[in-house]
Amino acid sequence: MIPPSWTSAPTPAFSPIPDPLTPARDITHAHFQAGDQVVVIKGVTSGELWGEAVRIVAPSWHTPTDEDGWRLRDATGGAQTFITAHPRYLVHLGRPCPDCLIYLRAMEDYLLPKYAGHDALIDCGWYTTTALNQLVHVADARGGR
Ligand SMILES: [Zn+2]
Repeated sequence: MIPPSWTSAPTPAFSPIPDPLTPARDITHAHFQAGDQVVVIKGVTSGELWGEAVRIVAPSWHTPTDEDGWRLRDATGGAQTFITAHPRYLVHLGRPCPDCLIYLRAMEDYLLPKYAGHDALIDCGWYTTTALNQLVHVADARGGR
């Protein structure tokens, strides 16, 4: 009999730590536009930042913050293919963008030393998705909505 092969867990290891950078980010709604490819940084893996790559679809109201947000399409999102996020959660992907690079470098400086030597996929636990498909950063969820 052939023993079952060992496969690693399909879900990331959950390792909540504070994220002081994303809530403090100063980025306007108009920084993004429909069609942009972006990523939501959620954690680290093998010494690099890790996140969900999504495409911006259209402007959409972000109810958890009562501010203008963006509707996103996550090709691998299944039942949550379309979610709405606040602009400060988003980082341009696939093209040089100085504003987004500053944030990415700050995230790297903050996060990567904390997980030096870890190869596992680490979810830092900053984001949840509401029943209405609104992506909420933990810092924006404290209002109790
Ligand atoms: Zn950008």
